Amino acid sequence: MSTAIFRDDLYLLHDPGFDHVERPERLQVVYTQLDNPDIARQFLFPKAQPAPFEILHLNHSKAHIECVAQTAGRTFDALDADTVTSAKSYDAACLAVGAVVEGTRLVVTGEVDNCFALVRPPGHHAEPDGAMGFCLFNNVAIAAHYAVERLGLKRVMIIDWDLHHGNGTQRSFVDTDQVLYFSTHQYPYYPGTGGLEERGQGRGEGYTVNVPLPAGLGDEHYARIFNDILAPIVRQYRPELILVSAGYDTAHNDPLGGMHITADGFAYMTRKVVELAGEVCDGRLLLTLEGGYNLESLVNGVLVGLVELLGNTSLSPETLAKLSSTQIPFVAFDAALAGAARKWRFP
Ligand code: ZN
Repeated sequence: MSTAIFRDDLYLLHDPGFDHVERPERLQVVYTQLDNPDIARQFLFPKAQPAPFEILHLNHSKAHIECVAQTAGRTFDALDADTVTSAKSYDAACLAVGAVVEGTRLVVTGEVDNCFALVRPPGHHAEPDGAMGFCLFNNVAIAAHYAVERLGLKRVMIIDWDLHHGNGTQRSFVDTDQVLYFSTHQYPYYPGTGGLEERGQGRGEGYTVNVPLPAGLGDEHYARIFNDILAPIVRQYRPELILVSAGYDTAHNDPLGGMHITADGFAYMTRKVVELAGEVCDGRLLLTLEGGYNLESLVNGVLVGLVELLGNTSLSPETLAKLSSTQIPFVAFDAALAGAARKWRFP
């Protein structure tokens, strides 16, 4: 497999300040691992260009783009209670979008098999007309728009496994069947959206699939959701491209989250998505980094995922067998399955 990674030191210059959890060290720890030549030689490192206005405008209003642009060069601006910018934040945000868009192009044209955009700031809370929740521009939503409007795809799927619901992404595609948004998230929790009854509207009805979850779930619970809810939907929708909002704040020791995912869980979730992409869309798959605030779990989750993107695995045969066939019972699973079953068929 050829796997592309987007990295750039500009992403480290988006600095929300001293005690903010979404801090440059999150990427620095990952980049330090990638500096190891034995790891680096396994990947391609294409360069991204900052996304121009017309690309940002695929998802965002002119007013919002101008609002973020005005922060450039200013030491400190607060766009909402927890979304803070520094002098280079706008440049970093434009380059983050540039990376997911170029990664999408490379994957769709087949120049690479798959891709991981290791970027900041994250994106999935950003609304078409506003910054929110550490997010300036909605990287994954712009990539999906680009795939549909510039590359001509008819069906794109976004899988959002971040701890939080991607309110911004959901809103961008709520009324279309050309982008299916699937999200697992702690609920009720920030940002408040993502209930079972939010299923899309008009032509988009049934093409928003929310799997709201209580805190306290672990690898087997997520494996069961991926095996028994996500996989049948992917096989029926047959996306031409899969984009993943890859957050690692479901980790067992994350300071913001209440989930218990370990590196094995992240490896399995990535593996399942790689496998599904292989089945339905020639493996076309792009992951982009969202949350994840325990540095050790973040770096481990990303690294085991990169191993899966290369077609290898860090999972023992026993763990793989257990997660592949788990029937662990939980009430939230049954509720989510019943919600999804209103549109999709399950074996
Ligand atoms: Zn998150």
